[in-house]
Amino acid sequence: MPAELAAIKRFPCPFSGCRLSLRSQGDYYRHREMEHEHCKKCNLDFEDWEAFVKHKAQSDKHISCPSCGADFKSHDGLKRHIQLVSKSYDSQ
Ligand SMILES: [Zn+2]
Ligand SMILES: [Zn+2]
Ligand SMILES: [Zn+2]
Repeated sequence: MPAELAAIKRFPCPFSGCRLSLRSQGDYYRHREMEHEHCKKCNLDFEDWEAFVKHKAQSDKHISCPSCGADFKSHDGLKRHIQLVSKSYDSQ
């Protein structure tokens, strides 16, 4: 029965260790962005946060902090962020 088949159809999450099945592709995309390390810009998936941060640091599509992975629109923004972070380290 087509209606029942459609109801059973699920979008299983392909990440290892995640057994979730999502009801729709939209749900899956949302889940992937929220729960997993996914680069929207490059459409790439990463096993863990460290791999994602490494990717952003190495890719010229990203301007990101190599230590915390924060994204910036410009190199100036990143520079300011790094200065702020190193300042807060100094004061400790
Ligand atoms: Zn998942
Ligand atoms: Zn990327
Ligand atoms: Zn940072």
